[in-house]
Amino acid sequence: MAIWNGKPLVEDAKDGGVQIAYLAADMARTLSGGLERLLFMGLWNEVAVFAVDIEGSADPADGPLEGLGRFEDLRMIALTLPAGDAGILATAKSMFEWRRKHRHCAACGDISEVAEGGWKRVCPSCKAQHFPRTDPVVIMLAVHGEKCLLGRQAAWPKQMYSALAGFLEPGESIEEACARELFEEAALRATKVRYHSTQPWPYPSSLMIGLIAEVENDEAVPDNIEIDEVRWFTREETRALVAGGLPDAKAPGMMAIAAQLIKAWSEEG
Ligand SMILES: [Zn+2]
Repeated sequence: MAIWNGKPLVEDAKDGGVQIAYLAADMARTLSGGLERLLFMGLWNEVAVFAVDIEGSADPADGPLEGLGRFEDLRMIALTLPAGDAGILATAKSMFEWRRKHRHCAACGDISEVAEGGWKRVCPSCKAQHFPRTDPVVIMLAVHGEKCLLGRQAAWPKQMYSALAGFLEPGESIEEACARELFEEAALRATKVRYHSTQPWPYPSSLMIGLIAEVENDEAVPDNIEIDEVRWFTREETRALVAGGLPDAKAPGMMAIAAQLIKAWSEEG
C-alpha cells in the first residue's frame, strides 16, 4: 500500500465507497528505494504487507502508478472507507509522519537508522533507540444538571460548537488533565470525570480520550485565548445538534469523537 505525502492510494469499492489499493510487492520495493521508506504492516493470509512512503511534488498516480488508484486526503475519505482500512491507513500515515520528523537522533543529532520493519529507529553513534509516539488529548463534555457546555473558537466555521479539549501534560492523570483544561478554558471546576471512549486521530499522532465531566456550577467564562465563546445546551438542544443542528448552532460531523460525546449525553436523559 502506498502513501504519498500523507495521502493514501485508494480505489473505488463495490459498495460505492473507497478502499485501499494494494500494489504488487516488486513495485512497492522499487518506489521505496530501500528499507527507510518501508513499514511492515503485518501478515495478511500469510502474505507480508508493507506500506511505502512516497514523497515529492509529482503525483505518482500520474506517473508510475497510473491506472492503479488515486491519492486522497485521509480525512476526506475516512467515512467512506471500511473501518478496517481506515485503521490500517491511520497507522501507516501516523508512522510515516513520525519517521519524517525523527530522521535525526533526539539524543545526539546523528542520522538514525530504521529498524524492526520501521517500528523503531536506532542511532548508530550513541545507540539510543527511538520509538513512535502517541500524544494523548483529553476532549470533554462539561455537564451541569440537565445542560452541557460546548465552546467555539473564532477561527472555526460560523456557528460551529464543539467539546473543549487539550493535550495531556507529563505527570497528569486523564482526570487531572480534564479538570485543568476545563478550568483554563472555561473557568469551570470539575467534580466528577467519567470515561466514554477513545479515537485515534492521526493528524499527526493523537489519541483523543473522550470524557464526560460534571462541573460545580454553570458559571462558565471563556479564556478568550483558545476559546472565544462558551454556550450551554439543553438535552433537547443536543438532540437537535445530533440531528443536523439548531438555527444558530452546529456540532462537528459524526466522525469526530466530540459528536459521539454529544450524542451519548443527549441519549442519557
Ligand atoms: Zn544518537
